[in-house]
Amino acid sequence: MRLFVIGHPITHSLSPAIHNAALRACGLPETYAALDVPADRLVETVALLRDPDVGGCNVTVPHKQAVMPLLDELSPEAARIGAVNTVAHRSGRLVGYNTDAAGFLASLRQVGVEAAGLRVVLLGAGGAARAIAFALVDAGVERLSIANRDAARAQRLADAVRRAARVGQEIEALELRPEALAAPLGAAQLVVNATSAGMDGATSPLPPPLVPSAGVACDIIYNPPETPFLRSARAAGARTINGLGMLVHQAAEAFTIWTGRPAPLAEMVRAAESALQRKGATA
Ligand code: NDP
Repeated sequence: MRLFVIGHPITHSLSPAIHNAALRACGLPETYAALDVPADRLVETVALLRDPDVGGCNVTVPHKQAVMPLLDELSPEAARIGAVNTVAHRSGRLVGYNTDAAGFLASLRQVGVEAAGLRVVLLGAGGAARAIAFALVDAGVERLSIANRDAARAQRLADAVRRAARVGQEIEALELRPEALAAPLGAAQLVVNATSAGMDGATSPLPPPLVPSAGVACDIIYNPPETPFLRSARAAGARTINGLGMLVHQAAEAFTIWTGRPAPLAEMVRAAESALQRKGATA
């Protein structure tokens, strides 16, 4: 059986290293390869997934939404989040899942952070932020403040998430401005950067002088391992977590969907770390 990750560009992906290590560790004969698929080749590529020899694929930027109408079925979670990052091929039918949400929560849990009852500030309203917002509400956060550069996008996400929230959970949208963010940030026990600001190692999503100084600061970016957001949070006294745990746990969820087996997490973490080091060395 063959497995793939499809995206464009795809050379940066750590998924082949993580999944091939997991398959080997479990003694499975499947292979996992990266396919560079520009937008105009998505339809023909998804059709190829129906080959009996293909078990499924991961889906990454920029296809997480565009792939949805090409599938036969969506998990309730993927439908609600509005993005698919894992496709399973089941007897000719393609089923779409979103494992980013579960992967994010599992990565927090692994380091002893439970989201239930917390006041959380979420920076970003893109695809990853959508998965994380629903995950946090399902996990029972007390308050979720969603801040985004494009404030209307934050508002749309807050409205969607509010519909899934329980009585007593507070969901609000904020502008990414010091005046709007200072109070929620001061009260937050968990601050999550789900924007792409920081991938360049130089940009921060938070306008100065805002810095999370207490509780947990989590950046879902894993390369660089410490973004300017995490660096300033650590210096101000917050506990910091980067995105490598989320990457590995979303992969672990996908592995179980395809193989029906528990994922060998330790091997997957090791493979992710060494692939990251190799890529860092060649970047
Ligand atoms: P999207 O393109 O869907 O969303 C990007 C988000 O970043 C938007 O909210 C955008 O705001 C915001 N943004 C971009 N640049 C800036 C900036 N300079 N200042 C403030 N906000 C900014 O991307 P994704 O949601 O798919 O991915 C976001 C990040 O999460 C990426 O770094 C990605 O690598 C990481 N990621 C990590 C995963 C993991 O497993 N660890 C899984 C998935 C993603 P606006 O709406 O205003 O444009």
